[in-house]
Amino acid sequence: MKRLLIVGAGFGGLTAAKVLAKSDFDITIIDKTNHHVFQPLLYQVATTALSPADIASPIRSIFSANKNVKVFLGEVKSINREKRKVLFNNSEIDYDYLIVATGSRHSYFGKDEWEKYAPGLKTMNDALKIREKILLSLEAAEKESDPVKRQKYLNFVIIGGGPTGVELAGAISEIVNKNVIPDFRNITASITKVYLIEALPKILSSYPDKLSSYAIGELKKLEVEVILNEKVSEVNDHGVKVGERFIESSNVLWAAGNQASPLIKSLNTEIDSAGRAIVKNDLSIKEDENIFIIGDAAAIKNKNGEYLPAIAPVAMQQGRYVAKIIAKNLTGKSRKSFRYNDKGTMATIGKAKAVGVVKGIKLSGLIAWLAWSFVHIAYLIGFRNRLRVMVEWMWYYITNRPGIRLIIKYTETPQIKS
Ligand SMILES: Cc1cc2nc3c(=O)[nH]c(=O)nc-3n(C[C@H](O)[C@H](O)[C@H](O)COP(=O)(O)OP(=O)(O)OC[C@H]3O[C@@H](n4cnc5c(N)ncnc54)[C@H](O)[C@@H]3O)c2cc1C
Repeated sequence: MKRLLIVGAGFGGLTAAKVLAKSDFDITIIDKTNHHVFQPLLYQVATTALSPADIASPIRSIFSANKNVKVFLGEVKSINREKRKVLFNNSEIDYDYLIVATGSRHSYFGKDEWEKYAPGLKTMNDALKIREKILLSLEAAEKESDPVKRQKYLNFVIIGGGPTGVELAGAISEIVNKNVIPDFRNITASITKVYLIEALPKILSSYPDKLSSYAIGELKKLEVEVILNEKVSEVNDHGVKVGERFIESSNVLWAAGNQASPLIKSLNTEIDSAGRAIVKNDLSIKEDENIFIIGDAAAIKNKNGEYLPAIAPVAMQQGRYVAKIIAKNLTGKSRKSFRYNDKGTMATIGKAKAVGVVKGIKLSGLIAWLAWSFVHIAYLIGFRNRLRVMVEWMWYYITNRPGIRLIIKYTETPQIKS
């Protein structure tokens, strides 16, 4: 049996593994978490609308029926191309084919010290940390009698006006202001402030101008102050400096940049400024045609010379594509180039409000939101998760009461010792 090693069970790695799970390959999947997480709905966990289990599935259980698939929990530290081994848990694992699908983390553009004050949202850990931060802040505001000191707890600053920033700003304003704060006695929604800061002249910069303007209009209705064309120059314990202004806040969230997983560097292949491997048209690296990099960790251009976006459909289509190359055992043979089939993009702003471009058609408002909801439910892993999310959304839609408002004194999950 040929040995296939997949590092990372996100959208790309999981798709590849599923395509090959019924083959006669000996497949090993290694991930540093024990679950696949549906990142597009992480902001709903961070803002108390959904529970972690609604959008995550244990990797092991996804493959429980596939005896040729092994799953290991742990972090791959480095890859030795020459010896065809990866270093994992102080031991080495051999492979014939390797798929690296380790995604990306936030990039603080050289200001890594900001992370402490402005966490980003990529993993379930991040979402729980943010949820805790928001809920603890509201509790602190409820106790604080000095209105100046209290304001810091009620100012929410989101840095980065891409889809994640817009979703967070809309959800915080809607859920915190409308649904959570009414349960408090000393604070009101009228004194909370949500700021969305974007260095470019528009938010949702990859969307047509009309949809960006629509999104700004809807955010304004939700009382989000959108600050455009301004760079953040300082983030600290007290808040954020943007332009000439300092916004006091204990709730600063980072949604501004991406950096590929550091594992890519250990491949000693060419990388771009975001740390992504510059892959060939078949998604392999130029030094080894049996090593494939897919998803957010890979840099590849479309036929117009633009880099493919870091979104789930790209990772999934790439996962499917490399699985087929591996299944056909095309080592040393000519391979058809990868072509991304762009079906569109969507971003939500709030309840019944979203924007999207589907097959070139611009959508906004309720219709975009319905399309967004349908696509997100359809792509969740597992029938139980789909049902649970649908029920939670219906419940929230009807009652306006998000349910997951638990402060559990969350701390970093202990890492398993290697
Ligand atoms: C908050 C948020 C919202 C998003 N919204 C959307 C959206 O609405 N629509 C959309 O299309 N896309 C969205 N995206 C982007 C989309 O989720 C990513 O493009 C996609 O997840 C990339 O897939 P991937 O397989 O490359 O990596 P990921 O899905 O990130 O998976 C990487 C996996 O590798 C594992 N891993 C990393 N390093 C190691 C290591 N060294 N050893 C072992 N395991 C490792 C991680 O634990 C993880 O499971 C969003 C992303 C985020 C963060």
